[in-house]
Amino acid sequence: MSITSQIKYLHESLPSEVRLVAVSKFHPIEALREAYDAGQRIFGESRPQEMTTKQAALPADIEWHMIGHLQTNKVKMIAPYVALIHSVDSERLVAEIDRCAARVGRVIDILFEVHLAAEESKSGWNEAELRVFIDSGALVHYPNVRLRGLMTIGTLTDDIELNKSEFCALRDLYTELRPRFGEAFDTLSMGMTSDYREAIECGSNMVRIGSMIFGERVY
Ligand SMILES: *Cc1c(COP(=O)(O)O)cnc(C)c1O
Repeated sequence: MSITSQIKYLHESLPSEVRLVAVSKFHPIEALREAYDAGQRIFGESRPQEMTTKQAALPADIEWHMIGHLQTNKVKMIAPYVALIHSVDSERLVAEIDRCAARVGRVIDILFEVHLAAEESKSGWNEAELRVFIDSGALVHYPNVRLRGLMTIGTLTDDIELNKSEFCALRDLYTELRPRFGEAFDTLSMGMTSDYREAIECGSNMVRIGSMIFGERVY
């Protein structure tokens, strides 16, 4: 299957309210160019340096999404152009994004990454931590970030029912929080190649798909 045919298939088959992030990490610029020429405009990357190199080489109307764990000392590199940071997992990172956004005169859109499984090893906020942070009202101290919604990575498992219960739990939290953040809180990022259909059934409106489009990653 070519990149072009996969992009066309996804654009035709995804429900209209679901946005597609083409996860292009570790793939060469020519692969992204092919997806772009097939009509794809949102790309997801997991490393700031790699994303910045690709951003400089490709058309300006691409939306660049940071989906991987982000170290605070790398925020500065992507602050001038990043469209959405999916992987915001601490107040420290919120504070640094706010600081870097202010310096380049932008408001940067973010999602909070949440992990719902009991595994404490996973990155992201657990639900209780997130509630404490939100209830503290601390976000008002960061006017250069705008919270657009929530993101999760499903537990790596063959048990699709487990993934589904996680996705539906995140949807419930998202639905509960929406009235507190208003219109701009509109993004629920969940679902990858192996589980995007289930994520959409549970209300995802942004899927992050890599290997289905670009093939297996070469590490
Ligand atoms: C790599 C990655 C994806 C894409 O995964 P595929 O299984 O290749 O579709 C999605 N989300 C995150 C956070 C990733 O790191």
